[in-house]
Amino acid sequence: MTQIKKILVANRGEIALRVMRSAREMGIKTVAVFSEADRDALHVRFADEAVCIGPAASNQSYLRGDKIIEVCQRLGVDAIHPGYGFLSENAAFAKQATEAGIIFIGPSPEAIEVMGSKLAAKEAVSKYDIPMVPGMDKAITDIPAAKKVAETIGYPILIKASAGGGGKGMRVVDDPADFEDQMERAVSEATSAFGDGSVFIEKFITSPKHIEVQVMGDHHGNIVHFFERECSIQRRHQKVIEEAPSAVLDDEKRMAIGKAAVGVAKACGYYNAGTVEFIVDEKLDFYFLEMNTRLQVEHPVTELITGVDLVKLQIHVAQGEKMPISQDDINKTGHAVEVRVYAEDPANNFLPDIGTLQTYVRPQGAGVRVDDGFEEGMAIPIHYDPMIAKLITYGADRQEAIDRMVRAIDEYQITGIQTTLPFCTFALRHEQFVSGKFDTKFVDNYYKPEYLNAATTTEEQEIAAMLATHVIENTQTKNNTKEVSAPAKSKWKTNRLNR
Ligand code: ADP
Ligand code: ADP
Ligand code: MG
Repeated sequence: MTQIKKILVANRGEIALRVMRSAREMGIKTVAVFSEADRDALHVRFADEAVCIGPAASNQSYLRGDKIIEVCQRLGVDAIHPGYGFLSENAAFAKQATEAGIIFIGPSPEAIEVMGSKLAAKEAVSKYDIPMVPGMDKAITDIPAAKKVAETIGYPILIKASAGGGGKGMRVVDDPADFEDQMERAVSEATSAFGDGSVFIEKFITSPKHIEVQVMGDHHGNIVHFFERECSIQRRHQKVIEEAPSAVLDDEKRMAIGKAAVGVAKACGYYNAGTVEFIVDEKLDFYFLEMNTRLQVEHPVTELITGVDLVKLQIHVAQGEKMPISQDDINKTGHAVEVRVYAEDPANNFLPDIGTLQTYVRPQGAGVRVDDGFEEGMAIPIHYDPMIAKLITYGADRQEAIDRMVRAIDEYQITGIQTTLPFCTFALRHEQFVSGKFDTKFVDNYYKPEYLNAATTTEEQEIAAMLATHVIENTQTKNNTKEVSAPAKSKWKTNRLNR
């Protein structure tokens, strides 16, 4: 067992701060690294020590594993926490760190390598009894042969980059006539985004839910799960709203999917935190999708329902400690919802919207957690992921968590940029969401930007509300039994328009 005394967080933004907070509570010193674009960033201010490692571009800063290891050696750092994105799923970096005598807070380089390739992951898992989406188990080399496989699987099919991540490198093909064309695009996309053009085919499940399971293993062969997260509200195959537990799984299914996730982790001798993703069809049959070998963006919803600080647990097991809890000790209470606050315009195809946070006031109150990395007046750098914050609410049950989220979003004051928040309010209030019946097609099926415009053009809305009230008052004098409520108004929404 090695006692970790100093951790370097090889990341930025909300996740760098989130990790440092847990480290500080454990009495561990923290080191931040940052790019020239992040000089004033909150993670830099929070850390005990901070080192600039290069220009804004990630490949000259946050992705420079060599520089990061050098900083560790210079400052006497015992362990690196990689967060998510950047170097978190880079097996070579995990190996280099370990060889330099620094603990990598994550799984083994071998596990990262296997699970980093969707194809290698499928192969590793195939020896165990885990259901998988019908598809190819090898990269496509022969296009006519692949097209035959597609016929057997049946259209629509999905062409997927084996090295893909962050929702990138995927192409749906509905019509065999488009196969060659989409293949070409998928390969070129995969090559430029991931430096690996390997693609394969999977059956495209038309209306699936995305449900994933949090797992954690120690270095003594113990692996447990912390129940599931429902992440079906997505745009561009990437999550926007997540919750735990899922509204549709009963305890029997919950235990079955948890057991399958532990099986996947065992298939690659897993330790530390990981997430096993499944796609779930209408019959609630689940199929293994991929494993993310790191802390997940949406881990807070799991923390809120289980009462476990997952980052602390990651640090404990990285020190070589035995898992302090067994599966039977892990319980859940209540319900948690997370919305990702992206600097994107939901009224304009979720296109990134850059700018300065002219107003930035976080919501507060019971059951509200905000994980972010920005303050009022700061500019959102264009070089990185456009996620500026995560807003998480907890309630005694699902309805309370949702109501709290709608209230918290209403309290959140952000001007200067457009964010995904108005879309989130729309989704949370939608009957499909409320009923729990939604799937990954929610945005395509139920969302139109006009719905937002209708809700956010405040002046018009206020005039409409005033008129409505006037009409109602007049109606009520005539007819006392009529019951009408005026549309809710909020001055925060007015503020949002002042950009
Ligand atoms: P999660 O899988 O944790 O729910 P995302 O899919 O949004 O979250 O990914 C988290 C972050 O990691 C994003 O910044 C995303 O762009 C990045 N990311 C994920 N996988 C990869 C990958 N294979 N290559 C590059 N970036 C990735
Ligand atoms: P990434 O590494 O980019 O996260 P995933 O394999 O996890 O890739 O897929 C991301 C999302 O794409 C899923 O959450 C789901 O919405 C959709 N998706 C992936 N595979 C399928 C499939 N076979 N059928 C339908 N949707 C899929
Ligand atoms: Mg995924």
